[in-house]
Order: sequence, then structure tokens, then C-alpha cells
Amino acid sequence: MFILPERDLKLNGVQQLVTSIEGESWAKINAYDYYEVSTLGRVLSRAYKEPRILAPRPLKNYPYLRVSLSKDGVVTDHYIHRLVLEAFIGPCPVDMEACHRDDDKTNNRLDNLFWGTHQENLSSRVTHRDSSGRFSRPNWSEYFLGIANAAAARGDCIRRQVGSVLVDENNIIRGLGFNGSVPGGKSCLAGECPRCLSDVPSGTSYEGCIELHSEDNCLRNSDTTGAKELTIYITCAPCNQCKTLLFDAGVSRAVWPAGHLDFRAKL
Ligand SMILES: [Zn+2]
Ligand SMILES: [Zn+2]
Repeated sequence: MFILPERDLKLNGVQQLVTSIEGESWAKINAYDYYEVSTLGRVLSRAYKEPRILAPRPLKNYPYLRVSLSKDGVVTDHYIHRLVLEAFIGPCPVDMEACHRDDDKTNNRLDNLFWGTHQENLSSRVTHRDSSGRFSRPNWSEYFLGIANAAAARGDCIRRQVGSVLVDENNIIRGLGFNGSVPGGKSCLAGECPRCLSDVPSGTSYEGCIELHSEDNCLRNSDTTGAKELTIYITCAPCNQCKTLLFDAGVSRAVWPAGHLDFRAKL
């Protein structure tokens, strides 16, 4: 049950002893015994003699910060912005997502966060400005994930809407796709997918499903002539079938909000 400090340290890198900051308040992280999160977006571990602040781990292709929390030997990565909202506001309402008011994804202060609709989350990204008000712009990963998000809005499924964008080594878009049946085919949103109408749990039993996954549609709609290296940006992690499909199609890398996969590493 008790978390070994060394393990915690290995997971989260350099950590600091807690020095209190004026106006900061702390709340327990739900379902964990040894962790707390603050209104300033700091995460604290009590697995030491003295409590320590965990060093957030940035993701390589994504600007959000996360920490690894350990419970009963199981390690789970958590986004700090979600931990803050869950601890101080409450669980994420249905169909809402965590939004940053100032568009700085590393600013996880409570007053910078809110549960908002997908549209609200997108609109906070429409104009990018830095802290002094000058225009700035998203990096390539943010840019393409934003485009994948826009494609997902066309997803034809009552259960889930997913979008993908395929990009070459020059950051030129080679294909776009969303989940749904072939052009002119049946529509899940119109109630024509027996599988999605049934109560099979998500991710299982694709029998009877009329839909192609967004990655599949994206590859079908792409022109990769002359491309040397292909990266696909997806609004969620690819399933195992799609991983195989992407690998077979010669895609080098898949990137989604919570992670990425290098297919070349398999070779
Ligand atoms: Zn469906
Ligand atoms: Zn898939």
C-alpha cells in the first residue's frame, strides 16, 4: 500500500520540498491516499517523511503537464489541469472538457481552468496571444490536433466522434478523415448501425458495425505520392486494428492528445 519514495522519485523526476505560497490551498486527490493538488496547480506527495512537490512531466508532442501517481503498485498518468478541476470543482460533467482560459496549457491555476464544452475549448484557441498580448501561434502538434478535432465534428457515430489528419515530413496535409461508413453508406447518427444501438461495451465486438475508424477513412482519402515520412494526428489513441493498418500503410508516427507511438521503433 505504501508508496516507496524512490519509486515516486523515479516516476516524477526532481522534486522540491514544499514551501508554502500565499493564497494556495490544497485538496486530496480522489482515490489516492498520498497525493494532494493545489489551487496553483502543484501536486504534492506525502509518501516521504516531509511532503514533496512532484515535478510535472511535460509530454514530447503535447503542451499539457502531467504527473505519475502510484497506488497499490499501479502507476497512472494524470493531467494536472484535470486533477485541479476534479478536486476543487467536481467531476467532469458529461460532454464537457477541461479548458484553459488563457490558452497557456501549463497554467494550471484553478482560476485559469473551467469545465467547458468542446466548442468553448476550441474558441479559447482561436486567437493565440502570449502573456503580453502579442499574437503567438500553436506548435505543429497543437495545430494538427486542432484540425483533427475539427474533422471529428463530422464523425458519424452516436457513441464517439473521432478525427484524423495525415501529414508528411514538410507538414503538408495528405489526408483527413473521421469515423463513419463509406461515402453514401449507412449513417450511425441516423440510427442505422446495429452495433452502436446495441449495448456492447465500447471497444469490443465490432461485428455488425457499419463504420470505419477515422484512421481508416483518413488513409482511404489520402494521397501520399512522394511522401518520405508520414505522421497521423488523431483525437484519441488508435485501436490495435488501426495501429496495424497504419503500420502496414507505412505511417511512421501516430500522435494523439495523451500520447504518441513511433512505428519505426517496431522495426
Ligand atoms: Zn456508431
Ligand atoms: Zn481504430
